[in-house]
Amino acid sequence: MKIISNPYELKKYLNGTSQSVGFVPTMGALHKGHISLIKKAKEENTFVVVSIFLNPTQFLKGEDLEKYPKKDEADKKICEIAGVDVVFFPHAKDIYTPDEASILAPNVRGYILEGASRPGHFNGVLSIVMKLLHIVNPTKAYFGKKDAQQLNLISLMVKQFFMDVEIIAVDTMRESDGLALSSRNIYLSQEQRKEALKISVSLYEASKMVSKKELHTTTIIKAMREQLAPLEISYVEIVNRGFEPIEAVEIGNTIILVEAKVGDTRLLDNIWL
Ligand code: AMP
Repeated sequence: MKIISNPYELKKYLNGTSQSVGFVPTMGALHKGHISLIKKAKEENTFVVVSIFLNPTQFLKGEDLEKYPKKDEADKKICEIAGVDVVFFPHAKDIYTPDEASILAPNVRGYILEGASRPGHFNGVLSIVMKLLHIVNPTKAYFGKKDAQQLNLISLMVKQFFMDVEIIAVDTMRESDGLALSSRNIYLSQEQRKEALKISVSLYEASKMVSKKELHTTTIIKAMREQLAPLEISYVEIVNRGFEPIEAVEIGNTIILVEAKVGDTRLLDNIWL
């Protein structure tokens, strides 16, 4: 496995490869969710690149950029064991220069839900993904359904900028009790971890309501809010796969999303119906 930190060196290394390249962008502190993306990339490509870059521009002032878990050595080992061909490990100075162009998230879809909780967050996400896709020039790039809005905005960007990469959505990996894996779970105390389970339970209960033919989104959202109490809820929303609000669940075209705070930790989860 090769580790490269310079973008130009990586471009040169990958240039002219006739193999299909699968790309998995991450911010490090890798867990089984990330590994499932890597596995899928390996199944579908002959060459796999993983980037590990804690992207500062997607954090708002006062968020957890400084305390975000860093596990560089463990991450490299995980990649090696998973059979990654190249880890791209850039420094911020290799990626950003002062006063440069950037991508702006769409005015509506970039500022609802997660974008309303974190205004400007998706500008940072789209800008770094655009840069990384230009550096790696992959055949396919892999993103988790766990960050459903991010996945939607990246898929839109790639289409709107006529880019030649296929975006692949990967299912959310969970702990055996249902908690969605996240690098931020490390912040949770044992007590908070128990509280956090309310999030996946509320989604599971919502899907049970739907299977019993309760399709009204306001009724489902009300029940979920009751189950989530006393967590501080940022949003509970039901949208179609294009991220438009809907009045009734449409099976095969619906995402139910939750963001709630457990202590100081903001946790995201969703279910695709
Ligand atoms: P991050 O390092 O948090 O930026 O995540 C890197 C990629 O892994 C993103 O595409 C995430 O959506 C994805 N990811 C994060 N958690 C999970 C999970 N539990 N299951 C599947 N994919 C995940």
